[in-house]
Amino acid sequence: MQHGNAHGHGHRQHRIVVIGAGYAGAIAAGRLARRLRREDVAITLVNAEPDFVERVRMHQLAVGQELRPRPFSEMFAGTGVRLRLAWRSGRSSGPARSARCSRVRGCGCGSQG
Ligand SMILES: Cc1cc2nc3c(=O)[nH]c(=O)nc-3n(C[C@H](O)[C@H](O)[C@H](O)COP(=O)(O)OP(=O)(O)OC[C@H]3O[C@@H](n4cnc5c(N)ncnc54)[C@H](O)[C@@H]3O)c2cc1C
Repeated sequence: MQHGNAHGHGHRQHRIVVIGAGYAGAIAAGRLARRLRREDVAITLVNAEPDFVERVRMHQLAVGQELRPRPFSEMFAGTGVRLRLAWRSGRSSGPARSARCSRVRGCGCGSQG
């Protein structure tokens, strides 16, 4: 993707796609967004669900406790990280949960689905 910069020169914007917004993916996307400039990178976070799942608290769910929802739209508000709700299809993914994510495929992330 080419953009002009303040000096009128062509500028290549890199695209970063993070697949899976668990602890690893969400932290990676957030740190990249803080460290990199928006004019240099476009960061997309792909996850199947709109809310962050705190796996370390799942035992609380198992005993009937309510957990506060943590929507990604709030977590990443103002960061520039774009969230795409999709299940990245692949050879081993179950067809019932598969939803093709054309942006991921377009980024050349190796989807074979
Ligand atoms: C009950 C429980 C208690 C735990 N307690 C602790 C603890 O006390 N201390 C500790 O250190 N660890 C604990 N763990 C382990 C910890 O939760 C995991 O190590 C951690 O969640 C791994 O993080 P992750 O980001 O790699 O994966 P995950 O947290 O599993 O996140 C993966 C994300 O990727 C998404 N995803 C996966 N595949 C796709 C796909 N194909 N397309 C789109 N999205 C996809 C998922 O929906 C999910 O949001 C616990 C785990 C459980 C289940």
